[in-house]
Amino acid sequence: MHEGAIAQALVNAAHNVAVENGSKPVEKVLIVVGKMHQIVPSVLETYFDMMKEDFHLLSNAKLVYTEQELLIFCKDCNTESILETYPIFMCPKCESFSTEVVQGEELYIESLIFYKEEPDGKE
Ligand SMILES: [Zn+2]
Repeated sequence: MHEGAIAQALVNAAHNVAVENGSKPVEKVLIVVGKMHQIVPSVLETYFDMMKEDFHLLSNAKLVYTEQELLIFCKDCNTESILETYPIFMCPKCESFSTEVVQGEELYIESLIFYKEEPDGKE
């Protein structure tokens, strides 16, 4: 399980961005994760919620997860397909292995949403 390390990196990066943006408290951290990373979203969220407690600016932040399909391009039949057979990079149309990944390797923070004012703890 590498969700713990990824969550730590996300928390650190989100905190740095929040500090750079005037140290406003963060409401949401929007992330994009390609399927190649084989991350279990609920596990990542659990780690994130645990680690965010170390940072005042993130203590009320919610992780918003967008998953990207794993897409491959086949150089033999020139088509793009969703890869369902990871880690076997075979074109589902012509069964060629002459493929390259065009989407699904990403893992980044898309944006941070800040609270307009300090959250007062009420729901
Ligand atoms: Zn093909």
